[in-house]
Amino acid sequence: ILLRTLMNKKVPLQLGRMCYSSSVPTTKLLIDGKFIESKTSEWLDIHNPATNEVVGRVPKATQEEMLAAVDSCSRAYRSWSDTSILSRQQIFLRYQQLIKDNIKELAKLITLEQGKTLADAEGDVYRGLQVVEHACSITSLMLGETLPSITKDMDTYTYRLPIGVCAGIAPFNFPAMIPLWMFPIGMVCGNTYLMKPSERVPGCTMLLAKLLLDAGAPDGALNIIHGQHAAVNFICDHPAIKAISFVGSNPAGEHIYERGSKNGKRVQSNMGAKNHGVVMPDANKENTINQLVGAAFGAAGQRCMALSTAIFVGKSREWLPELVERSKSLRVNAGDQPGADVGPLISPEAKTRVESLIQSGVDEGAKLLLDGRNANVKGYENGNFVGPTILSGVSPAMKCYTEEIFGPVLVVLEADSLDEAISLINSNPYGNGTAIFTTNGATARKYTHEVDVGQIGVNVPIPVPLPMFSFTGSRGSFRGDTNFYGKQGIQFYTQIKTVTSQWKAEDATVTSPAVTMPT
Ligand code: NAD
Repeated sequence: ILLRTLMNKKVPLQLGRMCYSSSVPTTKLLIDGKFIESKTSEWLDIHNPATNEVVGRVPKATQEEMLAAVDSCSRAYRSWSDTSILSRQQIFLRYQQLIKDNIKELAKLITLEQGKTLADAEGDVYRGLQVVEHACSITSLMLGETLPSITKDMDTYTYRLPIGVCAGIAPFNFPAMIPLWMFPIGMVCGNTYLMKPSERVPGCTMLLAKLLLDAGAPDGALNIIHGQHAAVNFICDHPAIKAISFVGSNPAGEHIYERGSKNGKRVQSNMGAKNHGVVMPDANKENTINQLVGAAFGAAGQRCMALSTAIFVGKSREWLPELVERSKSLRVNAGDQPGADVGPLISPEAKTRVESLIQSGVDEGAKLLLDGRNANVKGYENGNFVGPTILSGVSPAMKCYTEEIFGPVLVVLEADSLDEAISLINSNPYGNGTAIFTTNGATARKYTHEVDVGQIGVNVPIPVPLPMFSFTGSRGSFRGDTNFYGKQGIQFYTQIKTVTSQWKAEDATVTSPAVTMPT
């Protein structure tokens, strides 16, 4: 039945053969270049969020399997770190082409396991692909520095070098983009990589791994384990692992940052968010309403950069009825259905949680302008659907404001001035993203300078930086000191060796020992 479900959903046969055995759709481990069946007795079901049918199973890898994966990374590191940078670049040049060639298959897998619409799933792959394309510039990105003649006959130069075995722990909401923030950058720098995808959406990572092997990555350069807390703690504790990249929720991110750092590892930890969109009365009304609706409800609000909170300043609050009307026009449906705008949430538990946060807003005095609970999607009655929801009159003490909802819910606050809006945002513990909608340059400039948030959009609702920049979430949304991708990503996955050398002419000999500090 499970296999038939997969076939009916048109999961590519190639993937079926690669990731799953012929009779049971179990997700494989990737160890030492081979996709192998786990010997574990503990398995987790993978569900299609639009139907809650089981579409696969993922193992909780055994201790032995996890050790084998790290050992494989350690062995492969010796040759991979020594492979010429041009060869590594060639592999990633082939890889970016293979991702492009398989974008539709990758997107189908995302929609099957994660639920987002197919068009949005392609965007998920595309944003990850851009990181791989950027990784192909490694020959420039890894250049060191030189300073000749710092004193007579003496030059100093630096090498940027890999650090060893690195590991990535990914969340469910971007099954392609976030793993692609991790292993391609780590590996192109010469590190080997241990990946732990989200146990809820492993299929896309498995196909991405297969494509990387097809592109020529040697056995052991990338290993994949599956699991939950035990796999995460294994990564935090294993001495061979030098760096951990984590993206996910705050409880997991804080735990991994602390445990990994305590064990002497570098950790970069991207976590939750509460992103505010400030609507100034001088903004372009049509653009602003459309951008707010798209950014609040796209991907069913399950983006760390979703604009989940709007602050209407002054008279812009009069636009609320139009915002509600536009939000109503979005079509809630299974992600693979034509015309779907808002897909399901990841799980029944997520749906219950989101619905209870909506209720908490009502109970605490907010006004429910649009209620997406009880969304009825014909043919998908068992799916985890919540439609676009808008709560207005929200105050900062309410639970629907203090908690990250991670669903299609826009909470609306009002402010009398830009200063009041900025002060609200700066009092919120998160610092992932924010946007201002205005036609006034001075207002935009004041905002970008005074708001204490790492990623700011000016008339741009989801300002996720392209990979030549870095993903610079801040405050409660980030732990660590070096961000994902861009220059900072290269810095995270490399260390510097500095060489100071002196080559004197033969007749310029050192005549006596120098016992004072050389200056
Ligand atoms: P999650 O924290 O539940 O899971 C992320 C990973 O951590 C998974 O691989 C999971 O197996 C593991 N994990 C979960 N709980 C754990 C625990 N207690 N101890 C150890 N490991 C644990 O996150 P999620 O639900 O998959 O993703 C949604 C969250 O991710 C949201 O909070 C969202 O804002 C955040 N997110 C942040 C960014 C960013 O760049 N800031 C991007 C995407 C998602």
